[in-house]
Amino acid sequence: MKLKDIHIQGYKSFVQEIELTFLSAITGIVGPNGSGKSNVTEAFRFVLGEQSMKTLRAQRGEDLIFNGGNGLSTAPYASVSISFDNTDRAFEKLFDTVTITRKVHRDGSNVYLINDTEVKIRDVIELLAQVNIGATGHHIISQGEADRILNAKPEERKEMIEDGLGLKLFQYRKQESEKKLNKAKDHMEEVLALEREIAPQLKYLKKQVEKRERVDVLRKELEAVYSVYQANESHYIKREKELLTKRIASITYEIGQLDSAIEKEKQKMSDHTLVDSFKKESETLRSSLFDIRTRKDALTREITRIEVLKETEERMRMRQETESLVPFSLFSQAIDSLAKEITIAQTVESCKSLVESFISTVTKLTGTQKQNNIQDETYNEEKYKQLSAERENLEKNEARVIHEQLLLEQEQGSTILKAQDMEQGVLHLVTQKNTFEQKKSDALREMDRIIEDEVQFNQDNIEILALLPRFVFQQNENTHQNSNENIATRELQKETRRSIERLKIHIEELGTETSPEVFDEYTRLTERTIYLEKERNDITTSITSLEETIQTLQEHIHTQFSIGIKKINTEFEQFFKTLFGGGKAYIDILKIPTYKKIETPDGEVEQVIDPSEPMRYGVTIHISLPHKKVSTLDQLSGGERALISIALLFAISQVTPPPFLILDETDAALDEANSRRYGDMIEELAKKSQLILVTHNRETMYRAGTLYGVTMGKTGASTLLSINFEDAVKVAK
Ligand code: ATP
Repeated sequence: MKLKDIHIQGYKSFVQEIELTFLSAITGIVGPNGSGKSNVTEAFRFVLGEQSMKTLRAQRGEDLIFNGGNGLSTAPYASVSISFDNTDRAFEKLFDTVTITRKVHRDGSNVYLINDTEVKIRDVIELLAQVNIGATGHHIISQGEADRILNAKPEERKEMIEDGLGLKLFQYRKQESEKKLNKAKDHMEEVLALEREIAPQLKYLKKQVEKRERVDVLRKELEAVYSVYQANESHYIKREKELLTKRIASITYEIGQLDSAIEKEKQKMSDHTLVDSFKKESETLRSSLFDIRTRKDALTREITRIEVLKETEERMRMRQETESLVPFSLFSQAIDSLAKEITIAQTVESCKSLVESFISTVTKLTGTQKQNNIQDETYNEEKYKQLSAERENLEKNEARVIHEQLLLEQEQGSTILKAQDMEQGVLHLVTQKNTFEQKKSDALREMDRIIEDEVQFNQDNIEILALLPRFVFQQNENTHQNSNENIATRELQKETRRSIERLKIHIEELGTETSPEVFDEYTRLTERTIYLEKERNDITTSITSLEETIQTLQEHIHTQFSIGIKKINTEFEQFFKTLFGGGKAYIDILKIPTYKKIETPDGEVEQVIDPSEPMRYGVTIHISLPHKKVSTLDQLSGGERALISIALLFAISQVTPPPFLILDETDAALDEANSRRYGDMIEELAKKSQLILVTHNRETMYRAGTLYGVTMGKTGASTLLSINFEDAVKVAK
């Protein structure tokens, strides 16, 4: 890679476009004071991306643009382009010629171009880092900055050396990786925060979804169990109702039959009123028998009286014959009294004794009452016969009635037996009917129980629809049950119902109300979680990879830096000895801790190392001049400082040669002898880097292959011309 040329237009004193081509290893730019030589050096800094206005000797962007001169108007913008020959592809992935352009407008805005394509400043810096042209500008030593590296702070010096060693590219890459790492960590924090935010929500939704899934499983289980239960139960109820209806109908029929049989029997019994008629008939017989006997007794008594009358008449006749007769009045009185007593007498025997007592009384009276024995009533034969015939007739009647009574009693006995048999029959029928009534009541109770089961079953069906809205009720009759279902099978069905109830309770406890949004949200959050997890894994991988990259870069920078320091020291000592004719010089890595202020127990403020801050590093320069005892760099003269700076700069450039090195009057402070040594050194240096030297030094001019003269006329604008050595010497003056 070689520097080809630089085009400057409108930049500071260069109003017209000028072109400097760099065909020689050493190009010298000469000219009088104030002609614009340093503006060329600055133009290099400008195009390479310098951001410090101070370094560009300006206060604002507008100061960089030609601000007019004598008869010349201001330039609208300043533009500088620098071209490199890239045939060796030092710039990766670019063309044979790489041109970097920077323009600044009066409003201070900047435009960067790489091969006419607008880019960002960062792209320019990274591109240049590929060829060891760093932002510290260590390869451009401006006027009066010969000892810049000496004046720099250790940390700045370290950066300049890193830049010089070509480690800046790695530094950029490291910084880039660190930025990415920080971004990745921030991103990781965001992802973790999102995960933390989502986690409880997802946990809740997961529970809901799992609950719902559990409910679905239970519902399926319920559906399966209830399908069988429902088919069995509907079959059972239907069949049982049919059977019971038939049974009840049959029992009712039987009862009806028995009722009519009982009715018939009762009818028969009611038709059989013989017992009562028997009673009446018997009563009639008894009454007529009584009447007959009463009449017969009356007749007997009458007949007896008549017989007594007859006997008395006979006795009286006989007495009259023998004794005086008893007066009739007395006798009549006795007869009347006897008749009355006989009427009252109950039996024939008592009548007889009454008659005998009458006879004795009459006998006594006969003795005393001889004068008064005249009889009032006389014996009537006709009446006697009539009465006797009547009594005979009554006796016949009595005998007939007694016979009839006997017959009636016999008939009554058999009729009672018949009635008793009929009653027995009715009783048997009633007992049978009662048995059927009992059976009917059992069957009705059974029917009630089935209807209760049916009501419950209907209720179950309603409830199941609430839990299983799409449940299909089976009409299948072909269940495993048969009409001979036994208690065990029924018990099994009841146990199934209990397990159905348990399932229903379980489902209701879990809740059936899960809105579809829950599933959508769960799916969304699950996907988000998976995405975040993947993101987290990617970031973790990225963080690990970036940390490894940073570590590798850090190690590379550290190793290369240490190696570089050693190499620089070898070259530095060499250049130093060349310039100073002996002595020693080396650079060293310096650890720079960060301090913090603390208050001591005495109340004083003390500075102590802050262990929480990382250790920083810098570079120190150690020199030992021959024949002199100099302990610090401050004690050196300006020339000595310039020489040491040059020695170190050249040493760095020797270790990692930059593509070009611009030295603006670095040789200004050198005496003749040192100018020669300086000239030797730049010749040595030019073997590895292109040199652009702004100089007034004749010795230096002498070493240049190409010389440009910069002059400024009365217009206040710089002009450029290619000149030879002699002209250069003249121009330089
Ligand atoms: P020396 O040899 O003394 O160091 P030099 O040749 O390096 O001088 P420069 O410092 O390059 O000179 O140029 C300074 C000149 O540039 C001054 O004459 C200054 O007026 C001119 N100049 C600076 N900025 C502008 C500008 N914006 N427009 C026009 N001219 C400018």
